[in-house]
Amino acid sequence: MTACPNPTKSRYATREAAETAARRVALRIEAPLRPYECACTWWHLTKNLPERPVDVSAATRHDIEFLNVLPDIDFREVVVRDADGQGDPGQRAALRHHRNQVRWKKQLGQLIADVEEQLKDRRGDKSLASHDWAKRATGYRDSLIVRLNECKRLRAADHAQAIVNQEHRRRDAEIAAAAGATVKELRAAAGEIAVQRLIAAHGPEFDDYLAEEYAVLGISLPARVERHRRERGAA
Ligand SMILES: [Zn+2]
Repeated sequence: MTACPNPTKSRYATREAAETAARRVALRIEAPLRPYECACTWWHLTKNLPERPVDVSAATRHDIEFLNVLPDIDFREVVVRDADGQGDPGQRAALRHHRNQVRWKKQLGQLIADVEEQLKDRRGDKSLASHDWAKRATGYRDSLIVRLNECKRLRAADHAQAIVNQEHRRRDAEIAAAAGATVKELRAAAGEIAVQRLIAAHGPEFDDYLAEEYAVLGISLPARVERHRRERGAA
């Protein structure tokens, strides 16, 4: 685990826990506090405006595919820019799509290893310039680690969802087989019954719509519908 750059700050396990704490202290202090994820894997609060989380659903099919076939060197550039909070929102979202997660994780791992290697090489250098460089390099590494943690979290969530989906499909198929039907047929049957129930619950409304549509087409209403509508004074 990476050492926390701000070990004296309060730490929270999740964004939600940090948000709750922020609301609690909001009454006592003037500047609102906002949660941000730290390289130490905990969440802290800051008065600064932290970056907005990337909206995973912003990725188009084109973004996902584009990133998927992008050469390593260009893909790495997208990863580096994203760690800095930069880049095209669609591409940043596509990075988080399960099709690109493995590659994203691998690139982050390599980039982190590169920085740590460089930090190790220059450890003996006590010059001021080197000290500044090490500070920047550590900040850069920490931003990569925050992304790596996000990537792992997304992968775990996607994996859990895939298992749930698989389990649903398996159970549905079993139930359908026991009923001597296919899942598709069961779904169609449920839809049909729901439509019948909807009509039963909203019969007069349905008759009115029907009358309107018949009128649009210029054809005469079935006698049954005509009678229903006359009985309640609608026609
Ligand atoms: Zn921390």
